[in-house]
Amino acid sequence: MSRSIDLYNRALNVIPGGVNSPVRACKSVGTRPIFIKKGKGSKIYSVDGEEFIDLVLSWGPLILGHAHPEVVESAKNAIESGSSFGAPCEAEVILAEMICEAIPSIEKVRMVNSGTEATMSAIRLARGFTKRKKIVKFNGCYHGHVDHLLAKAGSGVATLSIPGTPGVPEDIVKNTLIAEYNDLDGVKNLFKQQGEDIACVIVEPIAGNMGLIPPEDGFLNGLRKLTQEYGSLLIFDEVITGFRFTYGGVQDIFKIKPDLTCLGKIIGGGFPVGAFGGAREIMEHLAPEGDVYQAGTLSGNPVAMAAGIATLGVLKNSDYSELESYTRNLVDAIKSSFTKRSIPTTINHIGSAFTIFFTEKERVTNFKEAATTDVNTFSKFFIHMRNSNVFIPPSNFECMFTSLAHDIVDLEKIAEAVQKFDIK
Ligand SMILES: *Cc1c(COP(=O)(O)O)cnc(C)c1O
Repeated sequence: MSRSIDLYNRALNVIPGGVNSPVRACKSVGTRPIFIKKGKGSKIYSVDGEEFIDLVLSWGPLILGHAHPEVVESAKNAIESGSSFGAPCEAEVILAEMICEAIPSIEKVRMVNSGTEATMSAIRLARGFTKRKKIVKFNGCYHGHVDHLLAKAGSGVATLSIPGTPGVPEDIVKNTLIAEYNDLDGVKNLFKQQGEDIACVIVEPIAGNMGLIPPEDGFLNGLRKLTQEYGSLLIFDEVITGFRFTYGGVQDIFKIKPDLTCLGKIIGGGFPVGAFGGAREIMEHLAPEGDVYQAGTLSGNPVAMAAGIATLGVLKNSDYSELESYTRNLVDAIKSSFTKRSIPTTINHIGSAFTIFFTEKERVTNFKEAATTDVNTFSKFFIHMRNSNVFIPPSNFECMFTSLAHDIVDLEKIAEAVQKFDIK
């Protein structure tokens, strides 16, 4: 690991913590990052020439695997014609049309450069539209690093045990109301007390930032009814789930129509892209049609759009059920290997995403239950897997992802590595 160590030391000197996103530093699992030189298909390669089967996949975007030929070609072609114009281009229209077609609740969509921008802008729009201040979010859901959304956030905030963060004045989070995921009664109470002031409820329809946690029966439906009753908007943050489990949003699996949807990750094909969209009469409040301001120098960037179009193009003709079934085989193998050795775990799995919780709890349905994961065991597991050439997220509050590039051999190698994990 000598080149990685060298680069990390240089990075520590000029980049806070040596990384441009906190969890990458691998601090919470008690180790240091490995620097990556190259990715191809299901694998990444370190600057020291080590090969890893990748279950992080850039934290979600790379459902086709690394450097998919069609995505590479499409982005290359685009960049040869200029990388940014600050004027509209055809690719923006094509990707917007693809998104609107795939997710029927989205009639109009605005491109941005990250998931964070998408949620931030969607909430501004919800507030502008309803002329209300308060928002409801869920403990353990992560919606990017927007100030007022960092209260009780999942992902890195949970991983690093930061209870909120310095730099966000209380005044800013005072309009953020927190409920427990899957606790509809809690949300009902908030609405009973302050419903007339609530602009929106923002939720990950399948939570992916406190580990993978599916919604319980009736939870999302209940949110839909409640928000309608009070004239608040329902925002689905589908930055992870969009195009992950089906060609479209999980809103169509659950048959629930949110008012606004946030997207990111997969729709950018590995480039910095986010988007938010929804019903025409709400989106029309956005500048320049309406008066809610939102803008971006590089928004709708032609190279990023080209990668997104290519990614969705491949996905449209792909078999999600195949992805689901081989991921299930892997999860079953992992489960039985832990059961055999009496290592207490609960694995939440949907499609091509899963999380192993090292907990005695038989079900993990919210952040409090997710937080019962034994961090020590998880850290050992992370290091064991990395030493076995399998790269998993360095956090017990994240999903492992599979991609269309993973094959049977990869899955067997992963299962084998898990089998050799010694808890002691
Ligand atoms: C990743 C993520 C975000 C933030 O996206 P960035 O591109 O990292 O800003 C927002 N919401 C959810 C659900 C996410 O998983």
